Amino acid sequence: MLARLRARAAAGAGVILITHDLALGLGAADRVAVIHAGQIVETAPAAGWRPRHPYAAALMAAMPALAPDLGALRPVAGRMPVPGDAGLPACRFAPRCPRAGAVCVTTRPALRALAPGAMVACHDPEAGR
Ligand code: SF4
Repeated sequence: MLARLRARAAAGAGVILITHDLALGLGAADRVAVIHAGQIVETAPAAGWRPRHPYAAALMAAMPALAPDLGALRPVAGRMPVPGDAGLPACRFAPRCPRAGAVCVTTRPALRALAPGAMVACHDPEAGR
């Protein structure tokens, strides 16, 4: 399937690959967009990408194919929010985020540029190690 998608892309077609397999997406795409609870929280070029949004960082830490060793694997804490829940904080990742502060509950973080071609929706993004 990936070979067919690459052939289409090489022929000039725009291709969007939606997957839960971050390693697959990084290996197949020019750009990555991480979605949490229906919102894009980070988008960047796939080559050399290092996550800045805490959810993206947690996803990467939970992927066996991306971990330096199995002992480094960490599950993403907490549970996904329930769609339509009126009690969600402004940042939907706040109940699961180790970097959450008061502003994360009251003010929705907008996507903003943090590096060339990279945008993150977070009040306190990671450094993108
Ligand atoms: S906006 Fe706040 S709660 Fe949301 S990911 Fe960033 S630091 Fe965490």
